[in-house]
Amino acid sequence: MDSIVLDGKQLAEKIKSKITKEIIEREKAGLSVPTLATILVGNDPASATYVNMKIKACKSVGMGSKYVHLDEKTTTNELLDEIDKLNRNEEVSGILLQHPCPQSIDERMAFDRIAYYKDVDGVNLKSFGRLSMKMDTFFPCTPYGIMLLLKEYKISLSGKNAVVVGRSPILGKPMSMILLNEDCTVTICHSKTQNLPEIVKNGDIIIGALGKPEFIKADWIKTGAILIDAGYNQGNVGDIEMTKAMSKSSYYTPVPGGVGPMTIAVLLQQTLQACKLQRTK
Ligand code: NAP
Repeated sequence: MDSIVLDGKQLAEKIKSKITKEIIEREKAGLSVPTLATILVGNDPASATYVNMKIKACKSVGMGSKYVHLDEKTTTNELLDEIDKLNRNEEVSGILLQHPCPQSIDERMAFDRIAYYKDVDGVNLKSFGRLSMKMDTFFPCTPYGIMLLLKEYKISLSGKNAVVVGRSPILGKPMSMILLNEDCTVTICHSKTQNLPEIVKNGDIIIGALGKPEFIKADWIKTGAILIDAGYNQGNVGDIEMTKAMSKSSYYTPVPGGVGPMTIAVLLQQTLQACKLQRTK
């Protein structure tokens, strides 16, 4: 069947060029430029790459960035102190703590220490609670990016069976809540789920969000399904066996160039929004 590519790269560029224009306008009007603070604890190479990409993205739209790199041995209390400093810093519009932190850190406590109005990565409990209740808030960037992509292609969601494979706090769980709020019937799967292939076969929308290369097989997919691959594994491979599955789908996201660029575009968009909410000058 004819499948349509959900081009996240293109939509992300569109969002970023709007942000660039708005920042130029702010500068002309003498208003402050948004700044994103990123915190990396430890030296995980993948996390360092993600943080670098985010810093580069800030530069590309004319946004400021502040990088805080903490030692692997940093304690939870030391991290909380750093977050408090950034919360107090008026130059900082938004704060992103790169996940995952080293095991010794209480990551939930750290996420919740980020001031709600600077939580541009949508990771604290208040943000999740408000998102779940369909209230205005900052959203976790990846699920929100996926939703913007679905909306851009005018994909109707109401009444569809959505199967989300993965239930992490930053991805699977909020994605499920967003789809539920869009009137999908949502099944959330995880590592203890039984009969996963049967459940996936029932899905009109499949979200791959587990972090295992090509784990979701093409022969589990029903013809016409919408395939969203949030997974990003070594060798530019997603969580869905996409080369075989794409021809069965009505829409699909490529890896790379689907969900990834949208995550960054949303992060920038929410940082700009945070700046506008915090600063009148
Ligand atoms: P995570 O925190 O490790 O969570 C993985 C989830 O998958 C867990 O809920 C886990 O279940 C579930 N799972 C593991 N094995 C499974 C199995 N055999 N069957 C069904 N479910 C299984 O990962 P994450 O941070 O959500 O990331 C997931 C993927 O998305 C990774 O590839 C990551 O790189 C990617 N990602 C991409 C972006 C982007 O911008 N594109 C952003 C964030 C993440 P349990 O809860 O039972 O353990």
